[in-house]
Amino acid sequence: STGPPAGKRLAVLGFPVSHSRSPVMQTAALNDLGMTPEWSYEAIEVAPDDFAARVAEMAAGDFVGVNVTVPHKEAALRVSDTAGPAAVQIGAANTLIFEGGSVRAENTDGPGVLDSLPDELPRNRALVLGAGGAARAVVWALAGDGFAVDVWNRTTARATALADELGGEVVISPKAAEYDLVVNASTAGLGGEDAIGSLPVDPGDFRQGQIVIDLVYGTGPSGLLEAARRDGADAVDGLEILVRQGARSFLMWTGREPSLEVMRSAARTS
Ligand code: NAP
Repeated sequence: STGPPAGKRLAVLGFPVSHSRSPVMQTAALNDLGMTPEWSYEAIEVAPDDFAARVAEMAAGDFVGVNVTVPHKEAALRVSDTAGPAAVQIGAANTLIFEGGSVRAENTDGPGVLDSLPDELPRNRALVLGAGGAARAVVWALAGDGFAVDVWNRTTARATALADELGGEVVISPKAAEYDLVVNASTAGLGGEDAIGSLPVDPGDFRQGQIVIDLVYGTGPSGLLEAARRDGADAVDGLEILVRQGARSFLMWTGREPSLEVMRSAARTS
């Protein structure tokens, strides 16, 4: 296969994957610690049918580990030999670590959200919008961190299933100001429309002292985060969450703490 010469290789596997900011961000962190060119990080497009075979090949070769993104996160857990509690309970992995040919699955998406929260934020109530894979990771993490989690989803039956399994309550008409933390984990807005129009929150609903996170990232600030900021809330965008999950994966593969500042500036300028 193509790519850098034998060394300590890392990659992100997706389908498609060319849009991923992980290669630029992770390579900047490797450079910053003087780990290149021995270490490298690339994007590799892998079709779903090829995923299990490619992972086995990489684990037997010179790869140290990989990130996996859409649509491979559930398959990544299935192909693993061992898995951490986050991956097992979320039912998906975004990080694989190859250890002597054996494959370990971890999920850093949920813990990455926790890492972005200030210590002084009260851990009372959180609202999660969405019930897909990202929402599962977020609900698992927040419930484990002590939040009482309310889950809203366009399709209520999916919210019910998620809340029953991972700990939470379904909410139909949430009042955003009642929450210490609001997380958009839905893909509303990805079609180019303003996400906030598809979500049960409106400009004017937010307040000072609360955190609003939008996992979806694009070219500029989302309508949701702009509304939150105008209301005095603290906004955290999807690129900050990408940095936080990536920093945890980096530590798992290399044993070294990457610079968050270096990862942030690389992710934001790519
Ligand atoms: P997913 O499994 O496909 O789930 C999609 C969710 O969005 C479902 O709850 C779906 O509701 C909802 N949805 C879709 N269109 C909607 C609309 N028009 N109005 C309201 N709700 C809508 O996706 P996912 O894997 O969870 O990913 C969700 C987002 O998080 C993606 O944009 C992904 O890039 C992002 N993400 C970011 C990070 C990061 O590091 N920043 C990490 C993970 C994921 P229904 O059930 O009703 O269909």
